[in-house]
Amino acid sequence: ISLANQIAAGEVIERPSSVVKELVENSLDAGAMQLVIDIEKGGRRRIRIRDNGSGVSKDELALALARHATSKIASLDDLEAIQSLGFRGEALASISSVSRLTLTSKPADQQQAWRAWVEGRDMQAELAPASHPNGTTVDVEDLFFNTPARRKFLRTDKTEFNHIDELLKRIALSRFDVRLTLNHNQKMVRNYPAVDSAQVVDRVARVMSSQFTEHAIALDVEHLALRLWGWVAPPDGCRHQADGQYFYVNGRMMRDRMLNHAIRQAYGDTLNDDRVPTYVLYLELPATEVDVNVHPAKHEVRFQQGREVHDFVLQSVRQALDTKAS
Ligand code: ADP
Ligand code: MG
Repeated sequence: ISLANQIAAGEVIERPSSVVKELVENSLDAGAMQLVIDIEKGGRRRIRIRDNGSGVSKDELALALARHATSKIASLDDLEAIQSLGFRGEALASISSVSRLTLTSKPADQQQAWRAWVEGRDMQAELAPASHPNGTTVDVEDLFFNTPARRKFLRTDKTEFNHIDELLKRIALSRFDVRLTLNHNQKMVRNYPAVDSAQVVDRVARVMSSQFTEHAIALDVEHLALRLWGWVAPPDGCRHQADGQYFYVNGRMMRDRMLNHAIRQAYGDTLNDDRVPTYVLYLELPATEVDVNVHPAKHEVRFQQGREVHDFVLQSVRQALDTKAS
């Protein structure tokens, strides 16, 4: 079982930011409104996430670390089969198989907090009473300590931390109502206070820069069942790096060729010297019109009416840019 965990972990737990992604998603699933993320040495030494969500009861602690799937593998030949199993319900088990993981939690209706931990191949979770406010802390130490090959693929602490920072930006631009704090080596690097819907621009300014929000063109366009709102940088405000593109479809971050193309086309030849459009955009449409599960990890999306969506995005952005230009 532990071999299966390690292989499955390899598929999704590629680097520290993959761990952060899974843990943050769990915290948000648990209804947390505050998350504090502590990173040490780019995440290779420690990734710790503290939340004020619903918590895990004592009885469920060990279960949360156990692999749900009953798949057995005899050899590496079964790798293909494992890939197709996907990853749902296995994040904590997989992370714990390649790290020293401690899960500490206290649901509001439980008097005492409890802690469970497992280490690498030893999948027997140990339980002990602990001291912890309502909510959950997941502490992942020494990532890949038992998988040297994978450890070798890690880049510098700075690069690994940048991946985490970028991931947090994506989350910060979709959950304005949640307070997010990111510390690296004991120093606060990011702090995104919760904002209500009237102050979304404050969150965007913190994530992107106040220069972006000061110069960006705000848009909010509705057409039939489609709505596109957000901010696009004017052509001369766009950057050379491709690191300022945020597009959300019904609240989920997407990186989709068709959508990228529509936005690039909206800028037309106003964009020169290899600048890349910079934007934070939110597309909203009926859930039945879109399949965001095509490839969650690759952030691809499939629309029922792809052509219409493409043209709507193209025209809305073009119109916004034209208004500003004239
Ligand atoms: P999944 O999220 O797909 O259910 P995971 O392995 O990521 O699988 O998590 C296993 C279980 O542990 C979750 O279903 C949840 O019950 C519990 N859990 C994990 N993290 C938290 C958290 N931060 N707060 C509350 N429950 C959590
Ligand atoms: Mg999960």
